[in-house]
Amino acid sequence: MTPSMNTSQDRAFFGHPRGLSTLFFTEMWERFSYYGMRALLLLYMTAPVAAGGLGFDTAQGGAVYGLYTSMVYLATMPGGWIADRLIGPRRAVLYGGIFIAAGHFSMALALLPMFYLGLFLIVIGTGLLKGNVSVIVGKLYASGDNRRDAGFSIFYMGINLGAFIAPLICGYLGQEIAWHYGFGAAGVGMVLGVVQYVLGGAALGDAGVEPASATPDARARWRRQATLWGGLFVAMAAMVGIGGYTGAIPITATQVSDAAGVMLLAITFGFFGWLYMSGGFTPEERKRLYVIGVLFLAASIFWSLFEQAGSTLNLFARDRSDNAVFGAAFPSSWFQSMNSLFLIVFAPIMAWVWIRMSSAGTEPSTPMKFAWGLVFAGLGFAILVIPASNESQLASPLWLTTTYFLHTIGELVLSPVGLSAMTVLAPARIGGLMMGVWFLATSVGNFISGRVTGFYEAMALPSLFGTVATVGIVLGVILMLLTPAMRRLLPTQPSQH
Ligand code: GLN
Repeated sequence: MTPSMNTSQDRAFFGHPRGLSTLFFTEMWERFSYYGMRALLLLYMTAPVAAGGLGFDTAQGGAVYGLYTSMVYLATMPGGWIADRLIGPRRAVLYGGIFIAAGHFSMALALLPMFYLGLFLIVIGTGLLKGNVSVIVGKLYASGDNRRDAGFSIFYMGINLGAFIAPLICGYLGQEIAWHYGFGAAGVGMVLGVVQYVLGGAALGDAGVEPASATPDARARWRRQATLWGGLFVAMAAMVGIGGYTGAIPITATQVSDAAGVMLLAITFGFFGWLYMSGGFTPEERKRLYVIGVLFLAASIFWSLFEQAGSTLNLFARDRSDNAVFGAAFPSSWFQSMNSLFLIVFAPIMAWVWIRMSSAGTEPSTPMKFAWGLVFAGLGFAILVIPASNESQLASPLWLTTTYFLHTIGELVLSPVGLSAMTVLAPARIGGLMMGVWFLATSVGNFISGRVTGFYEAMALPSLFGTVATVGIVLGVILMLLTPAMRRLLPTQPSQH
């Protein structure tokens, strides 16, 4: 990556380039809007019409939740492409922020078509913003600058600071005052992020202004046309989807969601099929690609458990948990702040543990860390079987707190190492694509997490949580058993990742 000449010497923000502060707060506000709205989304959809909600049944709400959250992450792939080839990351982030804010305000209008239009705008906006803002972070540093990893850790704190305060504010406004104040607050947050991004733009120098690949005119024209047609296709598909969801055309919400599920499967199989069939890789590279395939699968399953924070765990918090501390009641959506709170506290401790283990030569390999991630995610659900089985009593808030603690430890052993491992294992010429694949795993995971919600009422809660827990723990153990074989596929063990 080429550093921006005027930022790479800068140490104004905790020893980092001043531009990191701009990006930190942009992403903080973007995540504030994302998690603030997400904390309310399923609660709003499943609340009775009399209570200002949409009156959906849980399965339908879950299908929309899964579709929306999976598309948000899927959109980062075309969003990266558009920035790389056409408009550059800097403008992509700006346009993305504007789309997102418009989306939240659209949702605040309390009309069903505007609700879906809002979700659609947020998907497009996040696709343009989320991956590209990280790309600009990378561009603040010269290639040998050893502050880069620390810079990303600070940036990850921005993500979690936004995710921490969002449910406290939007959740409170939405659940206690009126849903639309919650959505509106998410929009206000994103506007602050955009204003701050524009005002702080000078600190970024020329980082990310230009598209990564300057192309000859003919290809640039082709790309603009491809984007235009792709955009039209997506907009039309969205219209059909919205038409179906709002009952304007005779297709059901579940059919739209099923279609998206088939598309996700097709993209995943198409991509890995191409990867393994293509003759363009050496046998050595091919072995690493198999490892990537296994890690992809593990990450998808991990996120499908973890992302139930906004779906089944959110419903459990509302219906079955005793939401009060020392007699003071709090809105159920506040539980969604816990993951970020734990993350902010434990990320530095975990980093210290890895350094200690690595100097002692005992740091687990990447597949082993992924395996532990799955086990922790599974354990988080396993403990909930106990309060879920006790129907006569609301669960102490300590149960969900413990679940989120276990899930955060899982996230810490899997998520930060994940992308890094993808880029280390992938041949350099498809490195950018691998960033997209990492988000594809999140997308698949979110989709599954929404569909699991369909069982929230159809199955007894202890069996549902027990099944989810078993999937995580059993797959984690299988991955542990596979680890020695996977290490053999990797001639030079990337033990640091
Ligand atoms: N919490 C992180 C973020 O919002 C990671 C989310 C994910 O990849 N599922 O960026």
